[in-house]
Amino acid sequence: MRDDFPEKVKRALAERVAHKCSNPNCLKITIGPNSIATKSTKVGIAAHITAAAKGGPRFDEKLTPKERKDISNGIWLCGNCAKLIDTDVEKYPKRLLISWKEDAELKASLVLSSNKIFDSKKWFTYNEIEYQSKLELRWAIFFEIMGWKFTYKPFETEYWNPSFKISTHQPNSSFLVDVGMKGEFTREKRINIGFATNFSKGILMVFEDPFLKNSENEYGVNNIIGISSLPGKIKNHENKIDFEFCTAVVSDMYGKTDVVNLCEEHIDSDFPFRIPDLYSKYWVKATNMSNRVE
Ligand SMILES: [Zn+2]
Repeated sequence: MRDDFPEKVKRALAERVAHKCSNPNCLKITIGPNSIATKSTKVGIAAHITAAAKGGPRFDEKLTPKERKDISNGIWLCGNCAKLIDTDVEKYPKRLLISWKEDAELKASLVLSSNKIFDSKKWFTYNEIEYQSKLELRWAIFFEIMGWKFTYKPFETEYWNPSFKISTHQPNSSFLVDVGMKGEFTREKRINIGFATNFSKGILMVFEDPFLKNSENEYGVNNIIGISSLPGKIKNHENKIDFEFCTAVVSDMYGKTDVVNLCEEHIDSDFPFRIPDLYSKYWVKATNMSNRVE
């Protein structure tokens, strides 16, 4: 007995990601015109996160048939990716597929609510490196202006491919940087990034608008350059240690490039951070330079 998805679940899965494959390395459009003028061709698949039948990939015997064909157990993929996730379940575990789904839906919703286009297939070449997004390119130029040594896409981990690795002045010390729109850093993604902290002393996430001042003309914590994960040190709001992320900044302003963790107890969340105006000037410069790259 297979617990297949009802048609309306399949349709909702496809529409919630704008008919694009949810694998972030694929993003193939799964719908288009048919040669019959009144028809469309659909090549996407409503894939099961945990299998529809016993013995299938990632089968979860704890689920009831109703839960198995519920929309929460589905992910929209192209034909290739649907096959891919079922032939290597070690590489594509349940939690990874859930994070793909969350990210794909979030991206679709960001596109819907703004006029931004997330097209990771368009690459921007600068200094012989091909950047996958304008935002990554903008950060690369910013790092270059700051004189920070970086590697673009330094390595791939199972769950997460950081955008940059930045070397600090201290020996054997570096930190990883992930670049994205603020809304893209879902909890699932942050946990996956947390797994990768063995690779680095700090992890920084950087956004599209890092140097905005608040009404008091100060750089508030919400607008500073990034967030860092240091698992084991980090406590959540219930004072339990987990992968909750604390805010950190690149502290080049202290004379050495390093990550400062604002979770340390003497700093509260209203702490206005003093970022030299130079930073916003450099950021504007990086933005203008990146806008000229086609
Ligand atoms: Zn695909």
